Amino acid sequence: MLHVVIQELLQKAPVILDGAWGTQLQARGLPVGACPDEWNLSHPADVEAVARAYVEAGSQIILTNTFGANPITLERHGLADKTVTINRAGVEISKRAAAGKARVFASIGPTGVMLMMGTKTPEEVRSAFLVQAQALAEAGADGLVIETMSDPAEALLALEAAKTTGLPVVACMTFDSGKNRDRTMMGTTPEQAAEQLSAAGAEVIGANCGAGPENYVTICRRLKTATDRPIWIKPNAGLPEIVDGRTVYRITPQEFAEYVPKLVEAGASFIGGCCGTTPEFIKAVCHLLANAG
Ligand SMILES: [Zn+2]
Repeated sequence: MLHVVIQELLQKAPVILDGAWGTQLQARGLPVGACPDEWNLSHPADVEAVARAYVEAGSQIILTNTFGANPITLERHGLADKTVTINRAGVEISKRAAAGKARVFASIGPTGVMLMMGTKTPEEVRSAFLVQAQALAEAGADGLVIETMSDPAEALLALEAAKTTGLPVVACMTFDSGKNRDRTMMGTTPEQAAEQLSAAGAEVIGANCGAGPENYVTICRRLKTATDRPIWIKPNAGLPEIVDGRTVYRITPQEFAEYVPKLVEAGASFIGGCCGTTPEFIKAVCHLLANAG
C-alpha cells in the first residue's frame, strides 16, 4: 500500500518535479568547490529564489538544498556541527517558496565515502543519514528523496535511515556507466536497483543525473518492469561537455521536453531534470503536457 502522499500525487500523474539546484546556485555566485548546503544559512534569499522559480515554472514537487547536508560530507567543509541547522533551514526555505502550491521532498545525496574502502563503517554511514533524515522530517518535509547513488549498499543504508521518519521515501540511483551507460559506477543494473530498493521499502524507485533524457527512456522502462512501485526520473540536460574549463549542457528546454511523452510511455510517474536543467526546462515540460492533454 503506497503512502497517502504518493497516492494523492499520482492522481495527477505525470507529476512534474523541479530541475537542478547546484548549477542554479552557481549562476547566483556560489563558487565551484564551495559548500552549496551552507547557503541555506548564509544566502537564504538566493536559495529561496531558486526554489520559487521552480514553483512558478510549474513544479508540483520541489526538493531542498540539502543534497550534501549529511554530517560526513559537511565535515569536509568543517560544518558537521551545523548539520541539523542546515537541513532544517533547507526545508523551511523550500516550504516558504512552495507556499502550499508544491510539495517539498527533501534531498539526501551520497556521503562520498566508498564503503568498500572501509574508511567509514556501514554503521557510521547509517547514523550520518539518520541525523540528516530526522532533521529534515522534523522541519516538515513531505517526503525524502535519496538521489545520485551509485553504490546500492550506501543507498540501502540511506533508505533504512530515511524510513525511520515514516515519510514516503524515493530512492534513486545514477546510471551512466558501462558500454551502454545502463549501470551505476558500481556496476548495478536498473533491474538489480529496482528489486533491492523495492524490497527494502522505497515507496518510489528512480534514476537521476549522469546522462541525458535519451538514455533514461530505456532505464525507465527497465526499472518499471522490475518493480510495482511508481518511477521517478530526472535526467541531466544531455551529456556534459567541458568548454574552456566550464561544464556546458547542450540540450535546449524544448528538446528536453520532447522526451517527456516517451518517458511517460516508458512508465515514469514523476518527471523532472537534474544537472544543467533550469526553470525554463520545467516550463517547457509543463507547456508540452498542457498542450498534449
Ligand atoms: Zn545531477
